[in-house]
Amino acid sequence: TVRPLVAGNWKMNGTKESYEEFAKIAAGYDAALAEKIDMLVCPPAVLLAQFAEVENLPVGAQNCHAAASGAHTGDISAEMVANVGGKYVIVGHSERREGYGETDADVAAKAEAAWRAGLVAIVCIGESLEQREAGETIAVVTEQITKSLPDATTSANTVVAYEPIWAIGTGKTPTADDVAEVHAALRKSLVERFGEDGEKIRLLYGGSVKPTNASELLALPNVNGALVGGASLKAADFLGIAEAY
Ligand code: 13P
Repeated sequence: TVRPLVAGNWKMNGTKESYEEFAKIAAGYDAALAEKIDMLVCPPAVLLAQFAEVENLPVGAQNCHAAASGAHTGDISAEMVANVGGKYVIVGHSERREGYGETDADVAAKAEAAWRAGLVAIVCIGESLEQREAGETIAVVTEQITKSLPDATTSANTVVAYEPIWAIGTGKTPTADDVAEVHAALRKSLVERFGEDGEKIRLLYGGSVKPTNASELLALPNVNGALVGGASLKAADFLGIAEAY
């Protein structure tokens, strides 16, 4: 069986005072919950070092550069994330694909950078509303997962997050059947490529996950957790989602 992961992506939200909310999440991630699931918070990079001081709740970054260091003004490397105690890095979030033109090849290079630094890569994929309405969802996400995952992907070094772009921050989610259909297609692709280990690669769902819909979404076959945006900013909401397990 695959151990679930409930991950929070704070995006560009939070200050050093948000440590209080983070500490509440960590306190709620008690032994009983930790027995069942992994949890993770990806705060803005400037807060990583501070949050990493809390031992029972791992932290991760939301992006990294593919290079280890050098003349890349404004960027941070996976090695820097690891150096301040980060354990994971999100790569290829749709907000980076759309806002910064990141391609599948860029995302694959960032995943390899994550591994080089000893981090787990959370590789994000997902279709646009236009693609969904054109019936292209399965084709789009299958191409993304194929091209964004390097050949050395394993269930230990990588997590995949399916986030339909139109469901992010909108309060809209696909139906349970639609989520299950996409996750089944993704699982098939992982198993075809990575064999038995492909069964164990965690497939997260992301996009308007709330305490009210978490039980339904997280119980679906091939859904091994959630990548949560807005609802991860409040300890009560984020823990409410985790308690679906
Ligand atoms: P919301 O949960 O705010 O819809 O964001 C999802 C997301 O993009 C997480 O990476």
